[in-house]
Amino acid sequence: MKLTEEINKRKTFAIISHPDAGKTTMTEKLLLFGQQIRSAGTVKGKKSGKFATSDWMEIEKQRGISVTSSVMNFAYQGYHVNILDTPGHEDFSEDTYRTLTAVDSVIMIIDATKGIEPQTIKLFKVCKMRGIPIFTFINKLDREGRDPFELLEQIEDVLEIETYPMNWPAGMGKRFLGIFDRYHKQFVRFKGNEEEEYIPYADLDKDSYLDLTEQPMYQETLEELALLDEAGDPFSLDRVMIGEQTPVFFGSALAPFGVEVFFNTFVKMAPSPKPRKTADKIIQPDYDAFSGYIFKIQANMNPAHRDRIAFLRVCSGRFERGMSVKLSRTDKTIKLNQTQQFLAASRETVDVAYPGDIIGIYDPGYYRIGDTLTDSKEPIQYDELPQFPPDLFKRVTAKNVMKSKQFKKGLDQLVQEGAIQLFTGHPYETLIIGAVGELQYQVFEHRMKHEYNVEVQLESIGERIPRWLDQKEVDVKLFDERNMLVKDREGQFLVLFKNEFALNWFKDKHKEIDLIDLFEVN
Ligand code: GDP
Repeated sequence: MKLTEEINKRKTFAIISHPDAGKTTMTEKLLLFGQQIRSAGTVKGKKSGKFATSDWMEIEKQRGISVTSSVMNFAYQGYHVNILDTPGHEDFSEDTYRTLTAVDSVIMIIDATKGIEPQTIKLFKVCKMRGIPIFTFINKLDREGRDPFELLEQIEDVLEIETYPMNWPAGMGKRFLGIFDRYHKQFVRFKGNEEEEYIPYADLDKDSYLDLTEQPMYQETLEELALLDEAGDPFSLDRVMIGEQTPVFFGSALAPFGVEVFFNTFVKMAPSPKPRKTADKIIQPDYDAFSGYIFKIQANMNPAHRDRIAFLRVCSGRFERGMSVKLSRTDKTIKLNQTQQFLAASRETVDVAYPGDIIGIYDPGYYRIGDTLTDSKEPIQYDELPQFPPDLFKRVTAKNVMKSKQFKKGLDQLVQEGAIQLFTGHPYETLIIGAVGELQYQVFEHRMKHEYNVEVQLESIGERIPRWLDQKEVDVKLFDERNMLVKDREGQFLVLFKNEFALNWFKDKHKEIDLIDLFEVN
């Protein structure tokens, strides 16, 4: 019984957005709700000169451990909230994608003045591919933004997901009056100075609100609401749960305005930990044995500390520090003594954890991304993490040809770990490494030098669109620099298209060739 209660309390999610849309500001406000920080401004680093607790990179660099996306957790309204950070700026990497495999839902923040931006699309695709429920927060309503209808249309067209506005703004920027909270049937009035007033729909015709209801902007918005009620899709929590509809909230993370009503709705609606698939069965979170999988391994960039931390998502049962578990891949038994939870800027030892929680495990080099740990008598092996298509590609060689042995060893190891992806040119076997963020190249170079004593030379072939081929034989004459033929680690052919134009041209010309977008396959 206790286990079920703990599971139902868990809300594990990530916030995705394009840099500057307001992810840090939102995280900070949520931490304030959870009373994890004392005052606003402690999370945001750039201006105050302090570090963002959710932007861990710099802090970690100083401490010698780098490249993390950390986890923040707190209690809120009877729930246990776990927020997984998805590094978004220059520290964007494949780990950001992998982190999304460890959450049960996602909050997508869109800047109302900009609409959908590239990084949001990339992250969204991962959510879509995994069927993760997505809650949208359209931010910066205190500024003149785009028309709300236009924003919804853009989400529907570009991201191909149905929208349902949970609330609707009356005005924006200087003329911003507040939001109609369609779900709770109340008007949330914007009063500035961090103040908001909740007025039930039933009270809106009272004389005391004439100063609000007689404003032309208010009247105009009533018409828009009528239009939404008539022409919009109906709300369906079932469709939200499978990632086919996104509830949309409007507000301002900075003001803050509409954040509380958003988050209160979110924690109630967002799913608690769900069952997870293995090759031959489905493991329920309340299964009586502990199990979890590793979605990220964080290496220490400081050569004096070679230790690493493996991030594990608990999927079933109860974790207790010191317990003995099996690593399914090798059948090795390991005692989990050194475990950590990542809470804001401090790390604490974790003694107990439940499904939905993320724990950090000291890794003396035992683990790989995707590994399952369990104390179940029956073997459990969770499905491998998907291969995420990279979009940056560089040719790589060792600066010193005499070091080819170490070069190969380091390359193999780092590919194995999932730090980068390796491709080989065809028919000329040049080595090409793929990544989703520049940071991965920096880490790669750094680790090759410090762990394998090899300096590498990287030559960019630019941003590319990879499409896999479903065939073992190909006519090499069809390919060149613009549509470069390479093989992945499994020997599967893929084409690196120089741009959208080259891709479309090829598609047109070679209709007989199937081009597979990994984001579209589950
Ligand atoms: P991140 O890069 O997504 O983490 O974005 P930040 O939270 O750092 O926000 C980027 C900038 O936008 C900062 O200067 C914030 O103060 C500002 N910002 C965030 N939310 C709002 C908002 O609701 N209104 C306005 N006007 N500015 C905002």
